[in-house]
Amino acid sequence: MNIIACPSCARQGFNVIETVGILEERLAHISTAMSLSIIGCVVNGPGEALYTDVGFTGGGKGAGMVYLNGKIAHKQANDGMIDEIVAQVEAKAAELDAARKAAE
Ligand code: SF4
Repeated sequence: MNIIACPSCARQGFNVIETVGILEERLAHISTAMSLSIIGCVVNGPGEALYTDVGFTGGGKGAGMVYLNGKIAHKQANDGMIDEIVAQVEAKAAELDAARKAAE
C-alpha cells in the first residue's frame, strides 16, 4: 500500500497530514500492491490521481473529489471522507487480488 501525499500548505482543503496518519492505521490490513493519493488541493491532486488506484483531492466548501483509476469518480464531503476512502481502497484491493488470482 503506497500512500502519496502532498506536504500540505495553506491551500489544503482538509488536514492532509492528520488524514494520512489516520488512513495509515485504517489501511494497515491491506497487503495488496496498490497506490493511494491524498492531496490537499487541485494544484497537484488531479495530476497525482492519474497515477494512483484511488485518490482524493481537496476542494472548496468542505468537499473534495474522489478519483478511481485516475479518473474523477464523485464529489465527497470532507465529513465521511475517511470512511469513503477506506471503502474504496478495500474494494479496489479485492478487485486487484481477484484479477491477479485469475491470471495465475
Ligand atoms: S497540493 Fe495544494 S495543498 Fe498540497 S502542498 Fe501543493 S498547493 Fe499545498
